[in-house]
Amino acid sequence: SYFSDLGLAEPILRALEAKGYTDPSPIQRKSIPSLLEGRDLLGIAQTGTGKTAAFSLPSLHRLAADPKPRQNAGCRMLVLSPTRELAAQIADNMRGYAKFLNLSIQCIFGGVPAGKQARALERGCDVLVATPGRLLDLIDSRALTLKHVEIFVLDEADQMMDLGFIVPLKRVAALLPKQRQSLFFSATMPQAIAELGKQFINNPVKVEV
Ligand code: AMP
Repeated sequence: SYFSDLGLAEPILRALEAKGYTDPSPIQRKSIPSLLEGRDLLGIAQTGTGKTAAFSLPSLHRLAADPKPRQNAGCRMLVLSPTRELAAQIADNMRGYAKFLNLSIQCIFGGVPAGKQARALERGCDVLVATPGRLLDLIDSRALTLKHVEIFVLDEADQMMDLGFIVPLKRVAALLPKQRQSLFFSATMPQAIAELGKQFINNPVKVEV
């Protein structure tokens, strides 16, 4: 099968072509159609399977299909990642996939001063990729609000748990609008992760690769 069979908008197909991707990977084939319909997703997948594109492509499609003005300190899509390296990589990939779309993608993480990140969020963005600690710092300092989030992605849930991010994640969950699309990814799915997932996702499509 081809990316063009999955229902993605032409500017996204063009970006994939520019990257030299022709065929969707199994997780992409299995998740993109349901995600385009707005379904929640529970994905059991490791890094290297193409899961970043699996959650990014349909989300970018949906954001672009329903353009909205930026809201001060707001974002329409939030991607949570456990480490700054992974967050930066996701933002980088998403900028590539969104190359022919008019969407702004920001990335925030700890270990660097927060001031510049806060200023970058002032006028709002479409996609925000973040690590949990810095995300909550910026919310606490009122540089960021989650009240406009339409799509929420929790990536590498098992790593999040190993790094002690459970309490911060529960705080984030409480701040998200009830009406939203949620995607939850983990490389493994022990009971504790499944329980965490239940707090974020509703009647999900399940994909395992
Ligand atoms: P990920 O699992 O999302 O970190 O992706 C692993 C690597 O595969 C990344 O370098 C992607 O750029 C690349 N990739 C993702 N999807 C495809 C695809 N359908 N065809 C070729 N490369 C891909």
